Amino acid sequence: MEIPQKVIDKVLSHIDTEELIDLTGRLVCTNTVWDPAAGTSEEPAAKVVAEWASGKGFDVRWDEVAPGRPNIIIRWQAGPGKRTLMFEGHTDVVTPGDASAWSFDPFGGQIAGRRMYGRGANDTKGNLAAMLIAMAALKRSGVRLAGTIVGGVLCDEEDQMLGVQDFIDRGHADKVTAAVICEPQDGLICCTQKGALRACFTITGRMSHGAIPLSGLNSAPAVSRLIDGLHLLELEAIKAFGKDKYLGWPSFTPTVIQAPARGAPQLNVIPGLARILVDIRTVPNQSHPKIITALNRLASETGNKVLLHYEAYDRLLNLDRNRNLHILPEVLSDRPCTLTDINDPVVTAADWATRRITGGIPEYAGVPGATDGTFLWAQKKIPIVTMGAGDRHVPHQVDEWVDLDQLAETARIYALTALRYLMPQGGK
Ligand SMILES: [Zn+2]
Repeated sequence: MEIPQKVIDKVLSHIDTEELIDLTGRLVCTNTVWDPAAGTSEEPAAKVVAEWASGKGFDVRWDEVAPGRPNIIIRWQAGPGKRTLMFEGHTDVVTPGDASAWSFDPFGGQIAGRRMYGRGANDTKGNLAAMLIAMAALKRSGVRLAGTIVGGVLCDEEDQMLGVQDFIDRGHADKVTAAVICEPQDGLICCTQKGALRACFTITGRMSHGAIPLSGLNSAPAVSRLIDGLHLLELEAIKAFGKDKYLGWPSFTPTVIQAPARGAPQLNVIPGLARILVDIRTVPNQSHPKIITALNRLASETGNKVLLHYEAYDRLLNLDRNRNLHILPEVLSDRPCTLTDINDPVVTAADWATRRITGGIPEYAGVPGATDGTFLWAQKKIPIVTMGAGDRHVPHQVDEWVDLDQLAETARIYALTALRYLMPQGGK
């Protein structure tokens, strides 16, 4: 069903680019790094958003997720209808790191040419402002919509994702029928994101003097076997699941190898305790429970192999010692892969909106990391599409920036996505 051009024009005429740049600047100028020692949190950005949204006549709710770490929930029942579209944007940013390495004040929101610089300009305060401006434009335009729009302005996306968890726990997600995750994807439409499974192997042997190795039990031989085993699991996954069109290859990467896992490493001390951290990234159809089973099996098989190695060795040396080696596998976090049907109404709405605004054919891609959308998708089965302004390589770098023209385009795309998704049915 076609939306009349005059309705589209009416909505777009209410996108205020100056207000978008001003709001982005105000958000970037708040330091929202979660750093209890320095006394910074998401709160100042939440205040900016709450005051701004109240001023626009939205229903605004302040949920304290943890002390000083609020979620702001903006609700607007635009018209009667079953659909509820959520726009999600996070208020926290990662550390600027060494501020002297920046050419701009990380919390200055300085504009040079058509770019705004600062921590969060790209990830994701610009897109957060764009979704708010889109909501305000729809409201101000007075066009007929069927359903509700929810703005989820959430804390702690960069670390534990406590904000989205709280949003779900309080029931805010219960009636949401689709969500736009506002993150820097450079205008691409992303319907899938890699899963992430983080695991740890702790290997317990027995420490001893390097000159008297047979009085201890070195944990290091288990470390090398576990790394080999992880590589084999990766090869199996590559063969079984192949290269995903949008997400690339699955991976099992040992990222932290510690032996000894505690205390100062010393050349003449045999490590009694060792630890391996593994970062596993998955593609659709890979089962996380099956991977966890495989990790447990790897731990027990490696334990048995190392024990056989020590038994044979001790026989050769005619030695009797305690060969009590133990490998403990643990899952540290489990974030599934997400995949939204390309024919879902929220995706077709995003596709249509992108075509209308850019005049081009939308490009599709995948998100390499997890987002707040992961939890909405996994726990509430909400179809999600991730899109927004900003170069995909710029997040977390020095001199983070966003292109202001692309940001304005994004606000227009968000507005038309909502217009299309909440279009009254049956031509009424
Ligand atoms: Zn982000």
